[in-house]
This record gives sequence, structure tokens and C-alpha cells, in this order.
Amino acid sequence: MDADLKFVDCPAYLGRRGSARCGLPAEVEYCYAMRSTDGPLDSAKIRCPAGHVFNGLLESLTPLTSLTTAGGREAAAGLHAAARGA
Ligand SMILES: [Zn+2]
Repeated sequence: MDADLKFVDCPAYLGRRGSARCGLPAEVEYCYAMRSTDGPLDSAKIRCPAGHVFNGLLESLTPLTSLTTAGGREAAAGLHAAARGA
């Protein structure tokens, strides 16, 4: 069992109006750095238990609400470090 599992709140919108977020803990399958002209961008692939899968920039996968809590900021910092191979 991987002792280094990381989770973020699933950012998927639910329903046709998109007024609510899924919010289930989505497992970070892997992190990587995407190259850009402005330097490497931290990215990840995540999957939640409801089957939502996202692959893209870490900022776009992390709902702003989870960054307003100490635990959310700590998790985001850990993911950025993982994307950089630290
Ligand atoms: Zn989800």
C-alpha cells in the first residue's frame, strides 16, 4: 500500500446548473510539471470515487474553498512539491 497517498476535494460540478461541487476526496494519481514559456507549471491527474477524472494544472484542480483552510493550503503545498520532484 502506498503510504504517500494525497487527496484534494473533487472540483467537478454536479447537475445541469453546476451550482454544487462534488467535493469527494479525489486521489492524486500522479503529479508532474508541464512546460510553458513562463517556466514549469505544477500539474496532476486526480480521480474521485464517483468516477470524475481530471488532468491539468494544479491551480485549476484545487477549488478555492480548500485553499482557505490550513489543511487545504498544506495539501496544495505538498502537491506542488511532488510535482517538482521534491
Ligand atoms: Zn467527483
